Amino acid sequence: MMYYSTNKKTPSVTLKQAVVKGLAADNGLFMPGRIEKIEPSFFDNIQHLSFQEIAFEVAKKFFGEDVDEVSLKEIVYDTLAFDCPVVKITDDIYSLELFHGPTLAFKDVGARFMARLLSYFLGDNQKQVHVLVATSGDTGSAVANGFLGVEGIHVHVLYPKGKVSKIQESQFTTLGQNITALEVDGTFDDCQRLVKTAFLDEELNKKLMLTSANSINVARFLPQAFYYFNAYARLKEKGVLENRDLVVSVPSGNFGNLTAGLFAREMGLPVAQFLAANNQNDVVYEYLKTSEYNPRPSVETIANAMDVGAPSNFARILDLFKHSHEKISSVLKGFRYSNEQIRETIKNVFSQTGYLCDPHGACGYQALADFLQPNQTGVFLETAHPAKFTETVAQVVGASNMEIPQRLASFLKEDKQVKKLGNDFQDFKKYLLPGKF
Ligand SMILES: *Cc1c(COP(=O)(O)O)cnc(C)c1O
Repeated sequence: MMYYSTNKKTPSVTLKQAVVKGLAADNGLFMPGRIEKIEPSFFDNIQHLSFQEIAFEVAKKFFGEDVDEVSLKEIVYDTLAFDCPVVKITDDIYSLELFHGPTLAFKDVGARFMARLLSYFLGDNQKQVHVLVATSGDTGSAVANGFLGVEGIHVHVLYPKGKVSKIQESQFTTLGQNITALEVDGTFDDCQRLVKTAFLDEELNKKLMLTSANSINVARFLPQAFYYFNAYARLKEKGVLENRDLVVSVPSGNFGNLTAGLFAREMGLPVAQFLAANNQNDVVYEYLKTSEYNPRPSVETIANAMDVGAPSNFARILDLFKHSHEKISSVLKGFRYSNEQIRETIKNVFSQTGYLCDPHGACGYQALADFLQPNQTGVFLETAHPAKFTETVAQVVGASNMEIPQRLASFLKEDKQVKKLGNDFQDFKKYLLPGKF
């Protein structure tokens, strides 16, 4: 299948090119040339299928022309080696837990899938590929763990010294193998500048094959559609969708997760309504209300993975609905919550139901609580384990109510291995130049 750019100022490319490049030459985002429908009969028996089986059927619609069936199945089954269960919170609200992967957040799915797909396309290419990532926390850990041990690819994670939480830092500084953590004496913006400058440096690009693992990459973005189908299957299995409409609520920052849900709907998944749950970063909320889209600098909140002032995937939403505000605002309703409201939700849900939300999932829950009609069943995406945001969550419900999962605790026990770097590009370049990896 060919992939076109949302800016439409550059020719379409193959899936392989879209994955290797990430961003289109005209700075647009890649979109698949077609979104294929799933046969309606598939939904009659979907409740009898496992997450992996469902995801494989969906994956074939996206990648079936470009990846042979045996390899695709292998990639899907390897990516989804963990569960993504639906948990009952109240009579009509359910949580889709996306935090059972290696770093306890949903980005694990896209990162692992991309690692495997990139490796498939590179094949026996003897040349080592270098993935450069600048991170302020979560992306670095998901990418590092997703690419861990994948042959032919070396990942370099740049992060600002002293500005990443201990738990996050431990998730990409303790891995070793093909992952190198670079502690930059500077800010996140410095890290990003170093990476961007490297992509533009002629000598580096002549000598090394460089690529990014940015969340706008189609290989990270499209697999996020898989778990919406699983949510439907698991709810149907519980018998809670009989004569009821499904409403899906998505805590959103860059809107990749939500856009993947809209793709699932285009493929035929019966979702009556999507809710976009935001923190105080509310440009899409404003757009839905007024049809005016005004990106602006982000503001810091306690749901910091959604602190995005210019959501990159908004371009994909516009393209999907041919820029019709009427259509977009009927499929999608917007909600926004202050830090105060987010804390209040975490506290109330915990005291009333015993379920502990993370600050992002709390926005998703609250949007459902504010929106749901009597004939509807709601599911929100719980995008991270609450222990990833221990400080906030413990403050609200008390530290004694927090459990730190084994997987997170074991990262903290490992030795940190980092390479220290100043914020000068020439030093970064010297570090990257051949001979060492
Ligand atoms: C990245 C992230 C989000 C936002 O997802 P988008 O696809 O950028 O909208 C929400 N919650 C958590 C925990 C995240 O890490």
